[in-house]
Amino acid sequence: MNETYFQKGFGLKSEVGPVLARTYQSAVVERLKTLGYEAGASGLHFKLAREFGFCYGVDRAVDYAYQTRRQFPDRRVFLSGEIIHNPDVNRRIQEMGIRILDHFQDPVGRFADVAAGDVVILPAFGVSVPELTHLKSKQCVLVDTTCGSVLNVWKKVHYYARDGYTVIIHGKHHHEETRATASQALTHDGGQYLCVRDVAETELVCDYIRGTISAADLMSRFGEAASADFDPAAHLQRIGLANQTTMLMSETLKVQETLRRAMIDRYGEAGLESRFRAFDTICSATQERQDAVLEMLDKGGLDMMIVIGGYNSSNTQALARMCAPRVTTYYVDSPQCVTGAGIRHKKVGDKEETLTAEWLPPVPAGASAPAPNEVRIGITAGASTPDSVVGETIERILALRGRTAADLTQVGLVEQGSSTFAAAAAEKQSYA
Ligand code: SF4
Repeated sequence: MNETYFQKGFGLKSEVGPVLARTYQSAVVERLKTLGYEAGASGLHFKLAREFGFCYGVDRAVDYAYQTRRQFPDRRVFLSGEIIHNPDVNRRIQEMGIRILDHFQDPVGRFADVAAGDVVILPAFGVSVPELTHLKSKQCVLVDTTCGSVLNVWKKVHYYARDGYTVIIHGKHHHEETRATASQALTHDGGQYLCVRDVAETELVCDYIRGTISAADLMSRFGEAASADFDPAAHLQRIGLANQTTMLMSETLKVQETLRRAMIDRYGEAGLESRFRAFDTICSATQERQDAVLEMLDKGGLDMMIVIGGYNSSNTQALARMCAPRVTTYYVDSPQCVTGAGIRHKKVGDKEETLTAEWLPPVPAGASAPAPNEVRIGITAGASTPDSVVGETIERILALRGRTAADLTQVGLVEQGSSTFAAAAAEKQSYA
């Protein structure tokens, strides 16, 4: 460790630990866990996913940001972009006097205000090679919180590029992590990359590989998502697949299979080994959260899912995309989305939020309280969502029925759909 580049914090965990616990943990969530991840009050039956919320990489990044503030109380501290994609966490970090820089600008413009001696925190999803080089040249102090799972993807990318394979990245080309990953490919002579967002974009690449569309047609769709001098004729002969760590696993597998088939069609089965490589680089935390949601959906019995996380959080979007075709899904980015007027939420791919007014069944006329377990609400949250946000969301829902977390009691396990609300809520959303 030298004095301007830190990757392991500052040994202040015991000092910031209590602050982090107070800020980001939740008594409501702990209570739900104690009650077996399911509890009810006044006709609201909550079922919590077995894995949700903060992952190890986010935990570490937030911890290091708090440690950094303590270590350098008198210095200017910057974040090279949102530390994670959660509005609540980013707001709190800004309130500590840490300035978040706009990640869409080129490195020179973006870091124009950063001077020698300033402190810059690099987020969990990393920064690109040119950004890191530029920051190092500014002689500022760097606190690198890049997650080990992201570093693992970079390692695979280096293997591909070193061995002459073009890196195909299943990810959003404008996402910080994907931009950083793509930049790793360019550190090798002749290194190239192409980003595909989904199966539909992958099919276009396959159309070119099979010879059914021209290079010009292909590049008209992938101009910004490919390395600057990308030439399909030269650079789609040997390809290696990696992915943004937070993509939907089922989609990544389809992308892999789609590319594999196209390479077989073009070069034959015998040539596949020397022309196509693939590693699944979805991180384990993302995988565990997706598995937990799948388990909930497969068990059935839910009237709705509430998915909590930043609207720009890829892994939260993936959770919402899993839920929406199977059950009524509300994707919310903060507890404040739950209001007396309805629930504000966003469909994946939509730019605007939607307000749904009658999302909870009304209290039956003449009844002092609705029947027990009337509506069964599944809850999950992305890897960048703290328990405090999950807990507050649950509290706000309870408040709509005049209840608090103290009213939550153990209920029978959800195994079958409730009859009262399922019909009314049957209109499923279709998330493209
Ligand atoms: S989602 Fe995965 S890759 Fe991203 S910070 Fe968390 S553990 Fe690391």
